[in-house]
Amino acid sequence: MTTVYLKKKISRRIENGHPWVFANEVGKVEGPLDGGDIVDLLTHDGKFVGRGYANPRSQILVRILTRNRQEEINEGFFLNRISEAWRYRQQLGYTENCRLIFGEADFLPALIIDKFNDYFVLQTLALGIDIWKPAIVKALETIFQPKGIYERNDVPVRELEGLPQHKGFLSAPFDTNIIINENGLRFHVDVENGQKTGYFLDQQDNRRAIQHIVKGADVLGAFTYTGTFEIHAAHYGAKSVLGLDISESAVTQATRNAELNGYGDICTFQAVNAFDVLKQWAKDGRQYDVVMLDPPAFTKSRENIQKAITGYKEINLRGMKLVKKGGFLVTTSCTNLVQPELFLEIIEMAAKDAKRTLRQVVFQTQASDHPIIWGQENTHYLKFLIVQVL
Ligand code: SAH
Repeated sequence: MTTVYLKKKISRRIENGHPWVFANEVGKVEGPLDGGDIVDLLTHDGKFVGRGYANPRSQILVRILTRNRQEEINEGFFLNRISEAWRYRQQLGYTENCRLIFGEADFLPALIIDKFNDYFVLQTLALGIDIWKPAIVKALETIFQPKGIYERNDVPVRELEGLPQHKGFLSAPFDTNIIINENGLRFHVDVENGQKTGYFLDQQDNRRAIQHIVKGADVLGAFTYTGTFEIHAAHYGAKSVLGLDISESAVTQATRNAELNGYGDICTFQAVNAFDVLKQWAKDGRQYDVVMLDPPAFTKSRENIQKAITGYKEINLRGMKLVKKGGFLVTTSCTNLVQPELFLEIIEMAAKDAKRTLRQVVFQTQASDHPIIWGQENTHYLKFLIVQVL
């Protein structure tokens, strides 16, 4: 097996258990190194650090799969890791739908698997994990006997690894429009054409957090996608719900989901740019009891972090202005580049500009089927905040 030696000075990140090893952290390589090879990682003086997969084309030269020298990387390894992850979800009560594998947080870097009842959607985002796809599929078959497995590898990040974008079946073909249950409601999930894996499971617990504040309320929800927050609002007793999304197909999906749950009369959806209409409606003096904002990440790179800050501040400022005195703002951010403290600072800046006082109701994170590993900042990505706007 090829051996990769770290430089003498090892980064705190690797010492703390983070699985990524950047090319500039490596001192020397002994043996041939091809994309996807399993390698042993050693300190400069030969102490075992871990075993992982390599890709000389990637800035991340090695991703560590195990720190146990006795552990071989083979089919059995993937079966064990996926079984462990499933045990953890079951322990926490995420049995029907869950993120079964959350990459680094499940010690399987660059692997994402979402479970939608009997169906599985998979992403392999690095070459070294992509080549283990047959073993991963076999493990899913062994543990779950799934009705279907689908690959959503139509994501640009794969190109950094020299991988093509691709989507398709990893099992016998099946109807890719499936229905899942969440908090007593039902939702269509389009695993073939929906965003990411088709549905955002990470907010499944946060959606329950709006239960009391929406009773009898006029609710505005921006960035609705499948309409899931908005339909929860109707379910929890909102008087009226208006959901907005820039995408026509999201609005179609949200409308279908509202009808599926019998809330077609309470929920209305519109295809508009939230930035534009929120600004206009504030000028027009519109007011809501509850405004909910669930925007996209705005940036994927640290260099553009300012873009995200500006986007979050702007949309929250506009949203806040539409909240009646004593009403509530529900607001979220889904990028790990904006850590919780920074997110709260952004909301505070928006409140200052809007000349409103905020009273914090809840501040929480992603559902626990997306575990946060301490010391691995990038596993902590979702912020979910409810404030009363005074
Ligand atoms: N609230 C959803 C997830 C939203 S994902 C849930 O609970 O699952 C973010 C959504 O914002 C996407 O559907 C995207 O189409 C939409 N979006 C992006 N930019 C927008 C804009 N300027 N105005 C309105 N919607 C936008």
